[in-house]
Amino acid sequence: MPTLVWIILAAVFTAILTWAGAQAQFKATRRQMARKLRRAEAEVRVNTSEAERILGSIELGVIAYNTEGRLVTANRAARILIPRPPKTFRDFLEAYGQDAAFRSSVFLGSPLAVTVYRRENLCLRLQVQTRGVGAGGANRLVLIQDFSRQDKEERMRKEFVANVSHELKTPLTTIKTYSESLIDWGLAEKSEEAQRKDLQRIYDDSIRMEKLISDLLLLSSLDARGFHTTVEQGDPAWLIRQTCERMQYQAEEKQIELSCQIMNNIPAVYLDRAALERILTNLVSNALKYSPEKSKVAVYVGAVREEVYFKVKDQGFGIPAEDQAHIFDRFFRVDQTGSRQHGGTGLGLSIVKELVELHRARIDLNSVLGQGTEFTVMMPTAKKVLRETLHALIENEAQQDIITAAAAEDLSALARQLGIVAKWTSMTSSEKQALETIINADSEAELLSAQA
Ligand code: ADP
Repeated sequence: MPTLVWIILAAVFTAILTWAGAQAQFKATRRQMARKLRRAEAEVRVNTSEAERILGSIELGVIAYNTEGRLVTANRAARILIPRPPKTFRDFLEAYGQDAAFRSSVFLGSPLAVTVYRRENLCLRLQVQTRGVGAGGANRLVLIQDFSRQDKEERMRKEFVANVSHELKTPLTTIKTYSESLIDWGLAEKSEEAQRKDLQRIYDDSIRMEKLISDLLLLSSLDARGFHTTVEQGDPAWLIRQTCERMQYQAEEKQIELSCQIMNNIPAVYLDRAALERILTNLVSNALKYSPEKSKVAVYVGAVREEVYFKVKDQGFGIPAEDQAHIFDRFFRVDQTGSRQHGGTGLGLSIVKELVELHRARIDLNSVLGQGTEFTVMMPTAKKVLRETLHALIENEAQQDIITAAAAEDLSALARQLGIVAKWTSMTSSEKQALETIINADSEAELLSAQA
């Protein structure tokens, strides 16, 4: 074969080998690249879902818009506060950017613009962060915080201060005016009867101010959880009977028949004597104030299943249906003049409600205008509280309230009596059963006599 042919064959052979090698290498590189791509994709997926998980778990609402102003993502918290996040940033501004200063701040590309959005009871603090302003548009991140509770508290605080000032100003004005008239006229120029009347007005309004201040102090100590209590198991019937007897004098002034009907065998409840007395005094005193002369007011005490109830029923003016939802609000009065005439502060029922809740009890109202009113307080029996507290202690879910604290103390004493040394959370089921048997088996009379 001529040398040239050999040379050509060798060249072709080398080219084929090089091509095959290159092909193999190209395939390997492609496989490697595909592997890398798959790994990168998986990494992006993990990172994205991790980012979504983190975004979803934070309490702060986050909505993101891309450079074209389109919605990219809205986390769980944002969807709770804004259930249908606007699809574009322009729509978002339309819906939530009523504040002119905020809008212009956003349009001028300020890196941070803040506004407060209010609708009905909702109050949101919206913070728009703008990044990368340029020809291609900017990314926008909307951070949303729910301020509804704080906003409501602030509104209530302002309203409360305004009410207190008004309530204090009214009797103070009377005291000032009447004492001025006594000074200016000179005692000699006024008849004894007129002087007596003026002094009576001054005295009545000073008493009203005193009552208002003491009610306010009580409410403030309840708010601050600083109300001093001595909670113990006790017989509510005895206390209620005593209170009714003490109020007979007030009833007689209006010739109202005040009766107290108590069922037999009322179970013991956890109570603070002073607080329970205050609840009943306020309810009976209202029943007497808002009832006509010669009518009847009755107090009933009974027990249903695991609750002890007491009911104060009158034949008075009743409370209009539309006012019933507000009856426990501070300073709420159905009839302003009627309440003031009786020296009312408008705080009595709000104090009652707070004290009732302190006992882990509830209060219901049933009233028909022109026919009468019935307030019913339902308290859990001591047995029920003990059983629930035992369960909560074992499950480590006990609440931080005064009734639970008193019941927990009684349970510790019972456990000691039974020789149980284990902590609540590591108590065996037989130890728990032994305690439950004692709680359920003890008759109320035995519990009370043990208490005494
Ligand atoms: P007040 O000091 O004005 O009596 P309360 O908080 O005790 O304040 O009661 C709030 C308002 O509820 C009263 O002003 C009165 O209008 C109404 N009210 C309370 N109890 C009765 C009742 N038994 N019958 C009719 N209206 C009542």
